[in-house]
Amino acid sequence: MLLEAPEKVVEADIPEPRETGASVIQVTGTGICGTDWKIFTGGIPVTYPLVMGHEIVGELVEGTSRDGAKPGAKVLIDPVLTCGECFHCRHGQSHLCPVGELMGRERNGGFAQFVAVRPENVYALPDGIDLTAAPMMQVLTTCLHASEMARIEPGETVVITGLGVTGQMHIQLAKAAGAGTVIGVSRNPPKRDLALKLGADLAVNHGEEADEAVLSATDGRGADVIIESAGALSVLGEAMDLARIGGRIVPFGIYTANQAELPFYQLYFKELQILNARAAQARHFPASIELVANGKLDITSLLSHRVPFRQLDEAMGLLTRPGLDRMKVVLTYDD
Ligand SMILES: [Zn+2]
Ligand SMILES: [Zn+2]
Repeated sequence: MLLEAPEKVVEADIPEPRETGASVIQVTGTGICGTDWKIFTGGIPVTYPLVMGHEIVGELVEGTSRDGAKPGAKVLIDPVLTCGECFHCRHGQSHLCPVGELMGRERNGGFAQFVAVRPENVYALPDGIDLTAAPMMQVLTTCLHASEMARIEPGETVVITGLGVTGQMHIQLAKAAGAGTVIGVSRNPPKRDLALKLGADLAVNHGEEADEAVLSATDGRGADVIIESAGALSVLGEAMDLARIGGRIVPFGIYTANQAELPFYQLYFKELQILNARAAQARHFPASIELVANGKLDITSLLSHRVPFRQLDEAMGLLTRPGLDRMKVVLTYDD
């Protein structure tokens, strides 16, 4: 499916320009996320026509994977293409490569039946993985990267604000990292219930409820770590209130505003550490696959809608429909 202009997708076969040595993958599922929505509506400028989609899972048809898989293997794609030569690529920060490209944004992506990509961006999936939910493993790599940045120590109290797909992953990652009390914060009761099912010790509403839960879990100190996954600046302000003196905050939601009211004095007085995390590194792919394969991370519970890929328009509509209990929307290709 080709995006020809903002909010205009057409069905078209695209002759895929391929680098020599590229592997070919027949796509079985692609997740839709906020970045795709911003590209779709023109919020993120791109060159048209474009095949969107960067959370891609499929079957290897031609070529191999980073780990030597053969055609027929089920694979997950790392959609970030880096130069391998710049300062960042040479210093273990390839995810920050200034000329790096994202499939589905600077290059054609996964809302198509086939994609071509270098073998080092392809990872074989073990048997037993839920293939429909599997595109979310790309999302998981970014959460894992951020969770590592938080340096969660065993026994610490961790608060996750915002309980969408990434918030629910952060709940599970915090537990897997050995956190003591994990508290999920959301306005949405079904999302709070899901967080409890996925391992949160408490799930509460924003505001007073969150204040009370955090204070009583920490002898009045405040949380050691807050991972802000709602992407709202007002919630980032709430995170600064909930953190203890000397606490850490990971602003995981992506904020595009240039101005906001935040409790800046608390930043100083509490000596808060703000730890940003962008995208993920290659090493987070095998680590994420392992977390899902060994049952430490449930992604299947985060899938709410499967939509045939030709109905991309409707799938995009699901992202903003008010009142809808939506988690991850995945495009499927088996119709
Ligand atoms: Zn995404
Ligand atoms: Zn580079």
